[in-house]
Amino acid sequence: MIMVRKNSEATLYNFGAGPACLPSPVLNQIREDIPNWYEGMSIMEISHRLPVVMELTAKIEANLRTLLAIPEDFAVLCMAGGARTQFSTIPLNLLNGASNADYVITGHWSKLAFKDAGAYVLAHCAATTEASAFTTIPVDAELTFTQNAPYVHYTDNETIHGVEFTQYPKTDKWLVSDMTSNILTRPIDFSGFGLVYASAQKNLGIAGITVVIVRKSLLGNAHAFTPPTLNYALCDQNNSLLNTPPVFCWYVLGLVLEWVLKQGGMEAISKQVAQKAKLFYDLIDSSDFYTNPVAVNARSRVNIPFRLPSEVLESEFILQAEKVGLKQLKGHKVVGGCRASLYNAMPLAGVMALSEFMQHFEKTKG
Ligand code: PMP
Repeated sequence: MIMVRKNSEATLYNFGAGPACLPSPVLNQIREDIPNWYEGMSIMEISHRLPVVMELTAKIEANLRTLLAIPEDFAVLCMAGGARTQFSTIPLNLLNGASNADYVITGHWSKLAFKDAGAYVLAHCAATTEASAFTTIPVDAELTFTQNAPYVHYTDNETIHGVEFTQYPKTDKWLVSDMTSNILTRPIDFSGFGLVYASAQKNLGIAGITVVIVRKSLLGNAHAFTPPTLNYALCDQNNSLLNTPPVFCWYVLGLVLEWVLKQGGMEAISKQVAQKAKLFYDLIDSSDFYTNPVAVNARSRVNIPFRLPSEVLESEFILQAEKVGLKQLKGHKVVGGCRASLYNAMPLAGVMALSEFMQHFEKTKG
């Protein structure tokens, strides 16, 4: 039996899709800070109106702007409710009187965004890859848009199906993108975007906070029945402090952003992400035992579903992997099989340990 990483901090690698692993230095800092973040109190116990918390939120915005080169004409909001709440919040805020909006469906999450939006808008399916069991990405010629739709929603990376756009969908409408599982893994060209959003529990920190980056010119036209806490313009005017925010989530986001900056920002991170994905796909492609169902040009760099020859072998694989410290490799129940999530906090050594284990497992069971 092979063994994985041993160091004083941990003996495991967590491949979960989210909530996902945090960088070790971030975990260590949290441990240190918990009892006394400010004047003998923890971050969870102090008023969110204190200047020290205001400084934290300002720093988060500044670091996000630096890392992603967010243009000045975009507001950066931190909202509660997870990415799914945005599925409803987006039509509430961005329709501006229009009755329809366009949705590209490439997997579980974009399908749900389309469905949830249907309560507020005539959601038009601009394209769906369901016929391929969500293993492909549509080409631009396949996209159909409706005339008065103010935006086109798509999911840049489908966490469950493991498909990722390599180019933004081409449209003259504002793009609205769910980047929950691949934000901060590569630079973003904001020129065609009206809004980008991502909940935090994959690459930004922990569940409880969603970053919304929205073009300021689109603010101020929310539907009259939009709850104030879901109103982008109000959130912007109040620096995301319209009500008591989940400050611990903000604090962790702050630590993660500092860590990403220390890694060298988007250029360095995107190289690391590509390197880890290549290592993993090379292993799968060189094996007859492991398969990835996704079309090569649609492969996600961060969520990699894979299958073994039988479900029995898959269960055994997951069990044995857990035993040697390779955690949370079970695929989502919607698709079954196995899945490795290789977010920023997963070190290359973790992917190497997993590859080694997979080769060993194939030798003994293949
Ligand atoms: N979109 C994507 C791409 C996701 O992966 C997820 C969660 N895994 C969601 C939306 C929903 O996010 P939340 O649980 O934060 O509402």
